Amino acid sequence: MQERFTGSFTQQEPIPEAGIEAAVRVLRHGRLHRYNLAGEEIGETALLEQEFAAFTGARYCLAVASGGYAMATALRAVGVVPGDRVLTNAFTLAPVPGAIAAVGALPVFVGVTEALTIDLDDLARQAGDADVLLLSHMRGHICDMDRLMAICNAAGVRVIEDCAHTMGAHWGNVASGRHGVVGCYSCQTYKHVNSGEGGLLITDDAVVAARAVMLSGSYMLYERHIAAPEAEVFERVKYDTPNISGRMDNLRAAILRPQLAALPRQVERWNERYGALERGLRGTPGLSVIERPENEAFVGSSIQFLLLDWEAAAVGEVLRRCAARGVELKWFGGVEPVGFTSRYDSWRYADAPAMPQTDRILASIVDMRVPLTFSPRDCALIARIIRAEVGAVHQAV
Ligand SMILES: *Cc1c(COP(=O)(O)O)cnc(C)c1O
Repeated sequence: MQERFTGSFTQQEPIPEAGIEAAVRVLRHGRLHRYNLAGEEIGETALLEQEFAAFTGARYCLAVASGGYAMATALRAVGVVPGDRVLTNAFTLAPVPGAIAAVGALPVFVGVTEALTIDLDDLARQAGDADVLLLSHMRGHICDMDRLMAICNAAGVRVIEDCAHTMGAHWGNVASGRHGVVGCYSCQTYKHVNSGEGGLLITDDAVVAARAVMLSGSYMLYERHIAAPEAEVFERVKYDTPNISGRMDNLRAAILRPQLAALPRQVERWNERYGALERGLRGTPGLSVIERPENEAFVGSSIQFLLLDWEAAAVGEVLRRCAARGVELKWFGGVEPVGFTSRYDSWRYADAPAMPQTDRILASIVDMRVPLTFSPRDCALIARIIRAEVGAVHQAV
């Protein structure tokens, strides 16, 4: 009998009890707005910022309404203005070029390699044309950050990191998000911590941090932050930084704090599942697993493999056959954007030139979420199904 998988690819784990209890406490006292505090109380949002700064080793942290908002705020805070060109990955998700468009700037795409990281040779070629790179660690793949920073420093390019898929990951001993001027994270349901919506931004730059706090809509209540710079820094920015409301609230922060404390353990659990999938897929004829560099301590919350130089119809057949056995795969090669999966040439506001080498890689990327509700045995089963169906289609063509 053919094996079938019956789990849900979009089912997360419940919020930990400690988070539920903390959320109920906030609901009972009613002070959900981050600046609505009783007496000397320090709100949940300020505490989350302090804890995330400590978790990443950053001096400053700001919690905001979403990951996309964190990126747009970071771009504004480093001084991007309408009409600027901002470098970013051709292989990423729609909110990344969207954040660039949100500030009136123009996304300029840099290609992707077979390792699914930014093409550093292409970056070196284009680095002279922009002052900022919004670097997306798409699907948790971290490029050679030492070489990337050397290229960007030499060209005077400031780096903002999109760490939506690398919260808890490292390059060498450095937490993802700590190489550039700003690191941005998402707390949306499909990321590594889940408050429905939410975002975090970290930096060591006091002026960038103060601008970000003002931008997020702090009115003049910035002294209620505990992971923000001294009041004196705000004096320098407070009259010319607009309020572009996008705060986090105490309810979300209450849900997130216990999840942040549990993240190192969750990372282990993700990587156990990723390992089971990767072992099961490795060596399948026609399929390439992504080799992870030694310096990269990643979070296996999703897995990708390549069907390099396959006909589109054959990839479609693999997806159809896997779906029939309960395994939901996404493909980055589709001409039309589907669900969360779109590609640089779908973002037509960016007016991107064709990128044939990148197109070859994108056309080969098959992508799968790894929710923690899957067991390692589920993952081994999923790998057997993919292996069998890729094998069947590969043999037939
Ligand atoms: C989810 C995501 C974001 C943005 O996060 P939101 O909180 O949904 O705005 C940014 N970049 C990538 C790669 C993402 O997957």
